[in-house]
Amino acid sequence: MQDNLTAERPTFVTHLECGMTGERLPADRLANLSAAGKPLLVRYDLDGIRKAVSRDDLAARAPDLWRYRELLPVRACENIVSLGETMTPLIELPRLKKALGGGDIIVKDEGRLPTGSFKARGLVMAVSMAKELGVRKMAMATNGNAGAALAAYCSRAGIESVVFCPADTPEVNVREIQLQGARVYRVNGLINDCGKIVVDGRESAGWFETNTLKEPYRIEGKKTMGLELAEQLGWDVPDVILYPTGGGTGLIGMWKAFAELEALGWIGPKRPRMVAVQASGCAPIVKAYEAGVEHADLWKGAHTVAAGIRVPVAIGDFLILRAVRESNGFAVAVDDELIEAGQQEVAREEGLLLCPEGAATYAAYKQELASGRISKDERVVLFNCGSGLKYPMPPADSALDKDGAINYAAL
Ligand SMILES: *Cc1c(COP(=O)(O)O)cnc(C)c1O
Repeated sequence: MQDNLTAERPTFVTHLECGMTGERLPADRLANLSAAGKPLLVRYDLDGIRKAVSRDDLAARAPDLWRYRELLPVRACENIVSLGETMTPLIELPRLKKALGGGDIIVKDEGRLPTGSFKARGLVMAVSMAKELGVRKMAMATNGNAGAALAAYCSRAGIESVVFCPADTPEVNVREIQLQGARVYRVNGLINDCGKIVVDGRESAGWFETNTLKEPYRIEGKKTMGLELAEQLGWDVPDVILYPTGGGTGLIGMWKAFAELEALGWIGPKRPRMVAVQASGCAPIVKAYEAGVEHADLWKGAHTVAAGIRVPVAIGDFLILRAVRESNGFAVAVDDELIEAGQQEVAREEGLLLCPEGAATYAAYKQELASGRISKDERVVLFNCGSGLKYPMPPADSALDKDGAINYAAL
C-alpha cells in the first residue's frame, strides 16, 4: 500500500476562480474572497491529471483522503498536516428501508474522522495550505465542529488558532476546542456575529480568516466526500444525496467533485439529485429555493437542536442553490421533533448513532418519501456528518440496588 503522506506526486492547480464572476486569481498565494466578495474555487489542469493518473491507480494507495492528491491543492508532502483522515464507511439501513418501503438507504458515516466530524476534511486542507503559504495565526467563527478541527490541525501544524462561537454552542465542543490548543471565546450572538469579529480583527490581530467559504481550500477538502463516495460505489453516484446544509461547503464541494470526475472520464454524466436539508428553525436556503431566487436573506431568530446547521446566512448560497437546481434536487426543512425522533429510530432499529444534523437527513428522507418528492426506487445517501457521541443524549435513569432483592425476570 502506498503511503499518501510521503509519496511526492505531481500537482495540477492552475488558478483560483470567483464562483460568481469567473474572475481569475493566481494560485499559490493567500486569498480570501474574490473582488466581487464571493467564494473562490480552485481550478486544476484536468487534462494533465487524466494523463498522470487513472482511477485504477488509486487501488494501490492507502485508504485516506490524500489518495486523491492530484485533485487536491497541497503542493509538497511536507505541508500535509495529517491526523489520519480515513475513508469513511457506507452503512446501509436495511431494516428501515424495509419498514419505509423505499429504495436503498446508505449512510456515509463521517463521525469516524479525526475530531469526530467531517469538518476535519475541510480543515485539514485549509490548515495544510496555510502552512504551505506561511500563515502563523488562523481565526474562525464556528458552531463547534469546525473550531475543533481548526484547533486540532493548527496545533499539529504549529500554527496559532483563535476561535469564536455562539455562547450556547454545545459545551463539549467549546471544551474540546480549548483542549485542542485554540484560544476559544463564547460570544453572545450567532455564528454570523462571530464571523464579523473575525473579519473586523484581521488587521489588528493579524490572523488569517478561516470562516466558512472565506478561503478556497475548505471546499477542496470537503470535495473528497464526493470523490470517495463515487469510488466506493464503483465509480457511480447514488440517485439522491441528502446533505445537512449550514454554510453548504460539503454540498458545493461534492458538486464540484462530480464535475471534475466526469471531466476526467472517471464517472459518466449521471448526477445525484442534491437535496439541501435544513431545520425549520433556520432554513434560509429552503426559503430562497422556494422563492426561486439566487440569494438567501438572513434568517432571523435562528434556533434548532442541530447546531451544525444553525447558519442564518451563507456566503455560498448561490452555489448551493445552483447545485440543488441543476441536479433537479430540492431544499427542505424538518422540525426538531422529527430530528430527535429520527435519531432515536436509527439508533434503536439499526444500531447507528447519528448526530442531530445527520438525523435531519433521515427525517427529511422519511418526510419526502412520504410526499413523493423522493421515489420508492431511488437509492439515497444520507450524510451523518459527525459522531453522535459529541451531543447531549436523552437521560438514562434506571438504577439497581445491589443489596436489595433483584427481580431478574423483570430486567
Ligand atoms: C458544519 C456542520 C454541518 C454543515 O456543513 P456545511 O458543509 O457547512 O453546510 C452539518 N453537520 C455538522 C455536524 C456540522 O458540523
